[in-house]
Amino acid sequence: MTQTTATRVTVRCQFCHTWNRVDPARAAQRPKCGKCARPMLLDRPWPLTEDTFERTIRETEIPVLVDFYADWCGPCKMMAPFVDEVAREYEGRALVAKLNTDLAQNTSTALGIRGIPTTIVFKGGKEVARQTGAVPKAKLVELLKTAL
Ligand SMILES: [Zn+2]
Repeated sequence: MTQTTATRVTVRCQFCHTWNRVDPARAAQRPKCGKCARPMLLDRPWPLTEDTFERTIRETEIPVLVDFYADWCGPCKMMAPFVDEVAREYEGRALVAKLNTDLAQNTSTALGIRGIPTTIVFKGGKEVARQTGAVPKAKLVELLKTAL
């Protein structure tokens, strides 16, 4: 991995809800929450919420791929293993996250999400790629690569 400048991933600890700034270059070394010391697992989709979505997107300096899904959505379930794989393979280079649209209707409406699953890639807080509908892993990688 070649990181020429210091970059940060900004995520809220899922256990104690403290915001952490993590160096993605150290993602594989299992960074821990600065407050509760529980692990910050960046090799799997990071669950976002209505409360955490905006700040995570805005303050994370590597590309963020977000899977907008719902628990009842069959195609979302079909695509989920691909999202998991992308998270594992791009750990440290991209933040892969997921947002349950049923629990985040304001965010979903603000982004104009019309169908799920929808995948959006953000960089520097801005949307750079979007795909609606379940897609194979190769397509997720292609979307992500527009921001890498
Ligand atoms: Zn914590």
